[in-house]
Amino acid sequence: MPERFDAIVVGLGAMGSAAVYHLAKCGRKVLGIDRFAPPHPFGSSHGQTRIIREAYFEHPTYVPIVQRAYVLWDELAREAGAELLLKTGGLMIGRPDSVVFSGAKRSADTHRLPHEILNADDVRRRFPALRPDDDMSAILEPRAGILFPERCMAAHLSLAVRYGANVRTEEPVHRWEETASGVKIVTTRGEYHADHLILSAGSWITQLVPELKLPFNVERQVLFWFESTTSPALFYPERCPIHLWQFGDRRFFYGFPDLGEGVKVACHHDGESTSPDQICRDVTSAEIEAMRSVVKRYVPGANGPLRSATVCMYTNTPDEHFWIDWHPGCLRVLIASPCSGHGFKFSSAIGEILCQLVAEGRTQFDLSLFRARSFA
Ligand SMILES: Cc1cc2nc3c(=O)[nH]c(=O)nc-3n(C[C@H](O)[C@H](O)[C@H](O)COP(=O)(O)OP(=O)(O)OC[C@H]3O[C@@H](n4cnc5c(N)ncnc54)[C@H](O)[C@@H]3O)c2cc1C
Repeated sequence: MPERFDAIVVGLGAMGSAAVYHLAKCGRKVLGIDRFAPPHPFGSSHGQTRIIREAYFEHPTYVPIVQRAYVLWDELAREAGAELLLKTGGLMIGRPDSVVFSGAKRSADTHRLPHEILNADDVRRRFPALRPDDDMSAILEPRAGILFPERCMAAHLSLAVRYGANVRTEEPVHRWEETASGVKIVTTRGEYHADHLILSAGSWITQLVPELKLPFNVERQVLFWFESTTSPALFYPERCPIHLWQFGDRRFFYGFPDLGEGVKVACHHDGESTSPDQICRDVTSAEIEAMRSVVKRYVPGANGPLRSATVCMYTNTPDEHFWIDWHPGCLRVLIASPCSGHGFKFSSAIGEILCQLVAEGRTQFDLSLFRARSFA
């Protein structure tokens, strides 16, 4: 007889590793399974650092979820005995009518979050590495910072195993089907049965639910690490918070302080559409020059030699909100991808939410933005 579980989680990246951890911690018999051996550099969760921020420009609905995520990241760090989150503060920079500035202000006001509003001179004086245009403003939020994604996922997975989870890697799942008493998955090595199935396959999600014809777009994204040309101290975390910029109608980039590997910067969106099995992982000199031209203008002290670059994937819904809902044709299957390029910070809380949905059928968080929806 194939082994049977309370829940199976397919895909052990940011969301799946957190879901397996929470399910195992609350006593469920859980199998987590991945086509690679997470943390790995082939999906959406690698690259050393991720931003966590609270004055969420995308929508105020995200704020209670990220607040829960902060609590859970702290608990996980204590439990794992690892540094997972470094608070640096965060600057959301743009013209006053930009989505980044006005959206962050809206979330800060709605949820009464501590913040300061700075003009361009204030930013240049207090954070000399950053050179906003004169007509830009910034929201400075004190709780923003940096998560270390590989460490976060390793912590979730190793603690999940300690709580009794069965974790299988290098085992792609080919397909799943509903059975008379639950759900069955078929992998390269066998079959497994469960009461519930969580699909958190990131950029591969559409391959596991082709019948839904979900309109998700996989977008190639490049991360760059440049050496600084000015005093390195300007990029130390105490002098340089994480910073996210809107510098055009649909043009965004973000940067981190130098944690010893160079100054990391990247564009948010602007990448070509691709697929997870065909993505080009080479970075071209034209891409490096395009990034450099943004750096020269807004973070000129980071315009040194390129130290490294890597390619990653966003999986976007048309409205760029998440997609977390039951499969419309099978209420034992929970779809928990994609997160449109801004999901990592929430993953500790999303793992808990997925566990609540499977174990209790509900959660206290408002998921209405993330429900299955059509975009006609
Ligand atoms: C360049 C970049 C920068 C980002 N910056 C930020 C940021 O600063 N802050 C932030 O909050 N978010 C950020 N994000 C977004 C965030 O990282 C993602 O939303 C999040 O990591 C996605 O997690 P996931 O679990 O959905 O996908 P993944 O972590 O990619 O996990 C999916 C997993 O499913 C597995 N899988 C797929 N198909 C199968 C199958 N058939 N069988 C078995 N396993 C399978 C894959 O191997 C993979 O391990 C960024 C993303 C990128 C790419």
